[in-house]
Amino acid sequence: MKIAQRMEKLSPSVTMAITALGRELKAQGKDILSFSAGEPDFDTPDVIKDAAVKAIKAGFTKYTSVEGITETKQAIINKLKRDHGLEYNLDNIVISNGAKHSLFNLFQLLINEGDEVIIPSPYWVTYPEQVKYSDGVPVFIETDDSTNFKITAEQLKNAITPKTKILVLNSPSNPAGSVYSKKELTEISKVLEGTDILVLSDEMYEKIIFDKEVFTATAQISKDMYNRTVTINGLSKAVAMTGWRFGYIATPKVDIVKAMIKLQGQVTSNINSMTQVASISALEGEADKEIEAMRKEFEKRRNFAVKAFNDIDGITCVSPKGAFYLFVNIKEVTENSIKFCEQLLAEEGVAVVPGLAFGKEGYFRFSFATDLESIKKGIERIERFTDRIK
Ligand code: PLP
Repeated sequence: MKIAQRMEKLSPSVTMAITALGRELKAQGKDILSFSAGEPDFDTPDVIKDAAVKAIKAGFTKYTSVEGITETKQAIINKLKRDHGLEYNLDNIVISNGAKHSLFNLFQLLINEGDEVIIPSPYWVTYPEQVKYSDGVPVFIETDDSTNFKITAEQLKNAITPKTKILVLNSPSNPAGSVYSKKELTEISKVLEGTDILVLSDEMYEKIIFDKEVFTATAQISKDMYNRTVTINGLSKAVAMTGWRFGYIATPKVDIVKAMIKLQGQVTSNINSMTQVASISALEGEADKEIEAMRKEFEKRRNFAVKAFNDIDGITCVSPKGAFYLFVNIKEVTENSIKFCEQLLAEEGVAVVPGLAFGKEGYFRFSFATDLESIKKGIERIERFTDRIK
């Protein structure tokens, strides 16, 4: 038996070796501090859990419509109106098993062989992998610390070719926590005017914003931008609901919605019924107090960690405006992020993700979705390690 050729389009995860090593060391009883997780260390708020329990007890345990029940879609519409002043109707929404699933569906239904998808780098590793799996060609725009890892309008203009079909935007971003301002998004939107390039705007970390920065949704920029944008969002990160699997798209392009329902209808059908009910509580703001408490805690940790890293000789780190990651620059120490991370784990018991996993050498990603005590201990160990290998 041979595995199908299409699987060869997917690269093995570069984080896998390090994760396996971490697990092995932990099993040997070693003291491992992990900063590699892409999920909040907080529990899902009780109000959401209670709503799910109630739904189960009431027997809401059957298939629903593929794209999600009307009440949940309406709660998404209300959220987009309340938070961003955006107007959508029930024919503009599809709920999927997490934003990752929404993205997969989109790439599958949009990309023809050879279509180009522009992805700012560093990127969330899933984007290029899903594009390749869908026979598309990822085209990267390189960024660095000097622009807080954000692309410029000029760079975008230079990256566009007749084959460009999609631009992926991710603000706040994973792994760098970059947040695009209204002005920056407006400049980007001007480059797209007159083209038929679609924007996939992944706004997963929208609620985790620091320094009183104002989050701007891509679709808010102009009528033109609204029309060409598919907004992708979910509840995993802001509401600590990673295991519930809830993601959605919103777009005025009903052809995309129809195609997505057709595809999802043959693959997964609806997401689980109780998550749909529980998610209404989160979307309607019933967990806002808890969301804000988590955001505040993330900001406190970010403040500590950014300062602590910048105090280390040979390491620099820009202060992210959102999400819960630092993209730490270790170029003065080494360009080889995989070796650095493997050695750091083996010698100091600290797990971080090599920058190469996100398309960039000379960095590592440090998740501060971990308690402050562990963060302090972890950064001390990283300092000891870099002093040693410098
Ligand atoms: N988008 C970004 C930028 C992410 O970092 C992640 C998770 O790591 C997701 C989407 C996936 O979220 P979900 O849990 O809804 O699939």
